[in-house]
Amino acid sequence: MTALPYDHLTRSADQTLCLEGCALDQIAAEFGTPTYVYSRSAIERAYTELTTAFGDRPHRICYAVKANSNLAILALLARLGAGFDIVSGGELARVLKAGGAAEKIVFSGVGKTRDEIEQALRAGVGCLNVESEAELARISEVAAGLGVVAPISLRVNPDVDAKTHPYISTGLKDNKFGVPIEQAPALYRHIARDANLKAVGIDCHIGSQITDVSPFADAARRVLALLDTLVLEGIELAHLDLGGGLGIRYTDEQPPSAADWVDAVTSVIDRHPIARHLPLMLEPGKFLVGPSGVLLSRVEYLKPHPSDGKSFAIVDAAMNDLVRPALYGSVMAIEAVKPDPVMAAKDWEIVGPVCETGDFLGHGRSLALAQGDLIAVLGAGAYGFSMASNYNTRGRAAEVLVDERGATLIGARESVESLWALESIPPSLM
Ligand SMILES: *Cc1c(COP(=O)(O)O)cnc(C)c1O
Repeated sequence: MTALPYDHLTRSADQTLCLEGCALDQIAAEFGTPTYVYSRSAIERAYTELTTAFGDRPHRICYAVKANSNLAILALLARLGAGFDIVSGGELARVLKAGGAAEKIVFSGVGKTRDEIEQALRAGVGCLNVESEAELARISEVAAGLGVVAPISLRVNPDVDAKTHPYISTGLKDNKFGVPIEQAPALYRHIARDANLKAVGIDCHIGSQITDVSPFADAARRVLALLDTLVLEGIELAHLDLGGGLGIRYTDEQPPSAADWVDAVTSVIDRHPIARHLPLMLEPGKFLVGPSGVLLSRVEYLKPHPSDGKSFAIVDAAMNDLVRPALYGSVMAIEAVKPDPVMAAKDWEIVGPVCETGDFLGHGRSLALAQGDLIAVLGAGAYGFSMASNYNTRGRAAEVLVDERGATLIGARESVESLWALESIPPSLM
């Protein structure tokens, strides 16, 4: 049996996989499958590890809501003291609904609509992370209309290679994100001249699933060079924000610890006479919630190949529930919840029922499976449910939070009626 990658996953005496001590077969019996199951203590531990690494250095951890936007997860992080990094008006509404503080919100995103900007300024978010000159002009207009001054942080593109998957790399000059760092001084001057805008920070976000600290340190150095230029021009800022992207272990990655991350950036920033006094923000999503979750699914059919072709385990979770393997080619660990004592382990293609060859959760996984068995995809707490769709008219999975008091449903399984609730058949077709 392979070692389990996270402390909150264990096997009981009879080899049943447990999450925070809760047997996953019990959860499947109670809530059905497919179901996302999250460990509360894993999220609390990750948050505490990161915030503790800063010591008494001023900082704020703004959780990137898009990683997992369930209200209970947001409420948990709000209670821990987190701020939030949002990318839409919908996420803003969620954070406020979950009890998050507006002034601890940073609003990122390359395409904010007029309505979203207005919603954010009315709510009083901490700042808007702005990605273009055109967006600045729009924010200025909306702020003038509301009679408020909009707090602005420019998201600069530092042109560093995060050495991650091309779809999740965001800090290269050919990516759509941020303003080219060489253009930033002119934009800060523009902000200084506009009475409806106030510059409060500099921000960058170079990508996701970064497993080496050096791109963060490189980005920090480039941000500090920009800060020097701004200081010479008399432009004062109130914070620096180095974005998210801290990688996690899915299979055999060896990501740096939270302390390594924080040390790598603070050792650059705290040598700078001005930057060392500025609060430092990070926007981690995956680091805080990824390890906490599993996607629990049941084997519907086994289709072993009669000769040397591939053998398929068809499970009841699919790419609509968890798209990372199909979209990014991500390799996520998959475990049998209770390895079958009779069946020998065999290499299975773990696939879903969706009508796409790209519908797979894992290739060639050596597992002892029988029909009806349960499997768990590990590290599924981030970009799992939040990227789920209804493709093939499949309702989205249930979501369950486990803590020392037991398992609680925090997201009910979507009914088929709710999937067409907003559709209608015109009278001419009745
Ligand atoms: C997605 C995103 C994050 C979070 O990325 P993770 O890899 O989940 O840490 C942070 N900031 C911005 C602007 C993002 O788009």
